[in-house]
Amino acid sequence: MWGAVKEKFVSITQLAILGGAPAFEMPLHVGRPNIGDRQQFMASVGQILDNRWLTNFGPFVGQFERELCRFLGVKHCLTVCNATIGLEIAARALGLAGEVIVPAFTFIATAHSLHWQGITPVFCDIDPATHTIDPAQVEHLITPRTTGIVGVHLWGRPCDIEALQEIAARRKLKLLFDAAHAFGCSYRGRMIGNFGDAEVFSFHATKFFNTFEGGAIVTNDDDLARHANIIRDFGFTGYDRVVEVGTNGKMTEVCAAMGLTNLRSLDDFVRINRRNYHAYRRELDALPGFHLIHYDESERGNFQYMAVEVDAQEAGIGRDDLIKVLHAEKVLARRYFWPGCHRMEPYRTLYPDAAATLPRTEAVADRILVLPTGSAVSEEDIETVCGILRVAVANAAEVRQRITSHG
Ligand SMILES: *Cc1c(COP(=O)(O)O)cnc(C)c1O
Repeated sequence: MWGAVKEKFVSITQLAILGGAPAFEMPLHVGRPNIGDRQQFMASVGQILDNRWLTNFGPFVGQFERELCRFLGVKHCLTVCNATIGLEIAARALGLAGEVIVPAFTFIATAHSLHWQGITPVFCDIDPATHTIDPAQVEHLITPRTTGIVGVHLWGRPCDIEALQEIAARRKLKLLFDAAHAFGCSYRGRMIGNFGDAEVFSFHATKFFNTFEGGAIVTNDDDLARHANIIRDFGFTGYDRVVEVGTNGKMTEVCAAMGLTNLRSLDDFVRINRRNYHAYRRELDALPGFHLIHYDESERGNFQYMAVEVDAQEAGIGRDDLIKVLHAEKVLARRYFWPGCHRMEPYRTLYPDAAATLPRTEAVADRILVLPTGSAVSEEDIETVCGILRVAVANAAEVRQRITSHG
């Protein structure tokens, strides 16, 4: 029955926001967890219980770290309980203090990880073509208090790494990358994880590659790895010996087992995301006002975000109205990363004038729409989602009017 409704998504009266039945019975999420071979994972859980070694750098964490190093071609990998703690540990191990320049268009954890340790995040605007930090703006924000730059490889698309490395070297600043989105991606043929002083991945359940919760700090710097390793473990360097303040950033064995399982299926996850990306492009590229982000397919990518900029003028209907249309159909599209870190607390109160210096962040945050993908989303689902969008655009005036009158 649902199949029939989906195939014939052509008429405005079918829209749930106009009283039709929702296109989906179950909510379609932006990213439901990708899960690899269940049996392999359950066998590993059995082994962990047999070992009675649940955490504190057990054999699964050891193996996972070695496999990550090999996959990324990087010297050191420190798994962590989540990327937020990973960013905090990396920032502290790098000696970041005073001011650190960071994009405002990112997930709030990028800014929080700095502020949490008394570092002032200084928000930088993005390049509107790539959505990543604009190196030209970075130069203008450097003060005598600046100690570093944190770039974010947003949507898995690498920052302008070369320009940032040049600035960091010339101005003697540390360079850290929030690579939460960029596991499995490359820059000029080299895997993300090898750039700046260190990079931090997130393996949260909502990321395309997950360990339930988790992440990793990776670096080619021996001293930095040694220091971060101490901070990750309360500052211990041996039994009963603590040399500095540290935290608990350890990954558990069961999380590492999930990571090892999911690594085996990584190529499948990417293949599905790539198929979905092309399905969206086929369906939406010709729709007026819909500007889908592009992935450079000459590099390795993970295609994990299907982000679209909606030009309300061209489409006749804005991003926020489209979100209402989609949510009524149980398509839980999101507005990542609206409204920008500078408009969330505590930064909103601390820097009330920040918006004026971030015009491109503001513009993109107002247009961005992130659509469902991942292994829980089929090409048929995508055709239905795009059918809804086409009907909404084709009947923009009526849909807008309906939303305004019904709130
Ligand atoms: C998800 C995410 C984080 C935080 O990762 P956790 O593992 O959930 O702590 C940090 N930065 C960005 C850009 C993210 O998307």
